[in-house]
Amino acid sequence: MRKYVSEKASQISKSQTLAISAQAKKMREEGMSIIGFTAGEPDCNTPEYIIDAAKAALDAGKTKYTPSAGTEALRKAIAKKLLEENGLEYSFKNIVVSNGGKHALFNALYAIINDGDEVIIPAPYWLTYPELVKICGGKPVILEGKKENGFKITAEELKNAITDKTKAVIINSPNNPTGAVYTKEHLYSLAKVLEEKEIITISDEIYEKLYYNEKPISIATYSEKMKELTIVVNGLSKSYAMTGWRVGYVAANDEIATAIDYVQSHMTSNVNSIAQEASKVAFSRTEDVEELRAVYDSRRRYMVERIKTMDKISCMSPDGAFYIFVDISKVIGKEVKGQKINGSLDFCRIMLDYGVALIPGAPFGADDHVRLSFAVSEEDIAVGLNRIERMLNDVK
Ligand code: PLP
Repeated sequence: MRKYVSEKASQISKSQTLAISAQAKKMREEGMSIIGFTAGEPDCNTPEYIIDAAKAALDAGKTKYTPSAGTEALRKAIAKKLLEENGLEYSFKNIVVSNGGKHALFNALYAIINDGDEVIIPAPYWLTYPELVKICGGKPVILEGKKENGFKITAEELKNAITDKTKAVIINSPNNPTGAVYTKEHLYSLAKVLEEKEIITISDEIYEKLYYNEKPISIATYSEKMKELTIVVNGLSKSYAMTGWRVGYVAANDEIATAIDYVQSHMTSNVNSIAQEASKVAFSRTEDVEELRAVYDSRRRYMVERIKTMDKISCMSPDGAFYIFVDISKVIGKEVKGQKINGSLDFCRIMLDYGVALIPGAPFGADDHVRLSFAVSEEDIAVGLNRIERMLNDVK
């Protein structure tokens, strides 16, 4: 029988998180109360001034093709942001605007990977990274960030993971799912290794504005050479509550930015012209994201304190993003009402019976953890944590 699907496409895993979300949705439709800690997006609408800019763009007839890499005005606004907020100087020509951070990551990997090239992915990782590397013909090499190091990889571990096939490493700070943020000193110790070995860094900075302690910095600030070797990936989804608008971008050296532009010009062309017009004004205000950060910080503190009182689970206090990564290793191998907990998927499946939807850690490379989002209302957080407590009391 002829095989319809290519070997490349067959390698891509089904999203294991979608199965839990689909089941939660079905249970809600059947009338059950389910508190969802699954959100990967801010629980507020896009700020008004951005929406107004989109409406104005429509009225002004900004409805045509733009250059495939994005309008010059938007790319200049991004270059200004990178200079003022991140201390990175780029010409607008080094910036390509793509359909969300995800597409920007794909573009970055596609532009640099030859078949069989290795890409180091520190674990726990955002589950899309290994799949994107495989789509681009590369080989994901998972490097575990140890829990005692706050899930961050050390320079020594990085050095040992590099082979002559290593093309790139993906650094995600603040991190999804752990909320870990690399300090400047720590990041620069990695940069030293990467610069020496001339490894490309894909620096996913999408959660940069959601931090609760030290402000995250970009690894590209280490040196001019490091900037040359880094592809900065960012977007407006998380910072400006714009997940549905699909605006992300890369900033990279001339060679890589040009390659990305050429690929995108044949694949998707420009990002939606209205979304580009709206994004152009997003960077002009910081109040909304600061407000969001304050709200998330207080939810984060509340959740961490509550979890600390539950002796069968534990967590670290996240320094960024909007996730708490909860260690469930103490209950693995145990049972709840006759159902065995073999790992994070079982834990999440059983939690649904208690009216709570969580994201299992398995697809993030950590089967002894689950992820709880705090992009959820205070009321739901309180009720959801009560339900988790109830389930843990039933663990035998
Ligand atoms: N990078 C990380 C670590 C993420 O968690 C996400 C979204 O969840 C993205 C990138 C992509 O964001 P988007 O494609 O919505 O802009």
